[in-house]
Amino acid sequence: IGKPATAVPARPQPRPAASGLKNLLEVRDLGKEFDLSLGWLERVVARQPRKTLQAVDQVSFSIRQGSTFGLVGESGSGKSTVARMVAGLTLPTRGQVLFDGVDRWSAAADTQALRRRFQMIFQDPYASLNPRWTVARLIAEPLEVLGLSASRSETAERVAAALRRVRMTPDDARKYPHQFSGGQRQRIAIARALASQPEFIICDEPTSALDVSVQAQVLNLMRDLQDEFGLTYLLISHNLAVIRHMCDDIGVMQRGRLVEAGDAQAVLDAPQHPYTRALMAAVP
Ligand code: ADP
Ligand code: MG
Repeated sequence: IGKPATAVPARPQPRPAASGLKNLLEVRDLGKEFDLSLGWLERVVARQPRKTLQAVDQVSFSIRQGSTFGLVGESGSGKSTVARMVAGLTLPTRGQVLFDGVDRWSAAADTQALRRRFQMIFQDPYASLNPRWTVARLIAEPLEVLGLSASRSETAERVAAALRRVRMTPDDARKYPHQFSGGQRQRIAIARALASQPEFIICDEPTSALDVSVQAQVLNLMRDLQDEFGLTYLLISHNLAVIRHMCDDIGVMQRGRLVEAGDAQAVLDAPQHPYTRALMAAVP
């Protein structure tokens, strides 16, 4: 999908916004083993042993407030599983996800309070945008779920503000997702994510389904929003040009493991691990 936008220069480093020292997110020794077995009855009848897959293994990294951390690696390397464990959608089999020092998977964590501080954007906006809802309702929903709006007028104000932020008009609020292009739909998903004023956004292949020119627009919008609101991003992409354009730091995943991590420019300009070199050589 999409040739890398090689005309796009690397992100100037270090950026003032990324120089904050606090780690907003820390992932420690994270692991996820999936059980691939059939149900117990089928397994017993078919005389098959239990099968498991170590999708994520011993992954550790941290993300400074206001910076973008990129996770790169080929399809199936475990990137989305890491994202889902960070977001709280998939239970880790081991390790910790510390958000602002709080283990989000500990029983003591106030999940509702944590939930208000981050949002997710996916590759396919249709996955998160109910086609039967208007744009206004789509953007308002997280506010209601998270208990973030006191009144209808406040919700309306927040929806209008979120649309303005992604350069869309109040008229767009009355339309449905299918009335927009792919790039515009991803803007709606971003507006929806921004409405609750999160600090941290997990973006899983946010532009992989878009044409290259539209990709650049959406990525630039994400960067502008980061500078404006001091957002912190975990950005997942298999596209090295996207990673180079967006990230302060990166981690390279291969078969569930983080094989290399560090400053984005340093890793991309002088990859140390053979897998990273191979990955870069695969991109013209
Ligand atoms: P990536 O996002 O890098 O493409 P994923 O995290 O989606 O990789 O997947 C990593 C591995 O885990 C793959 O082999 C995938 O098939 C497997 N996997 C992902 N989700 C599940 C699941 N819910 N059940 C079983 N296996 C899964
Ligand atoms: Mg994925």
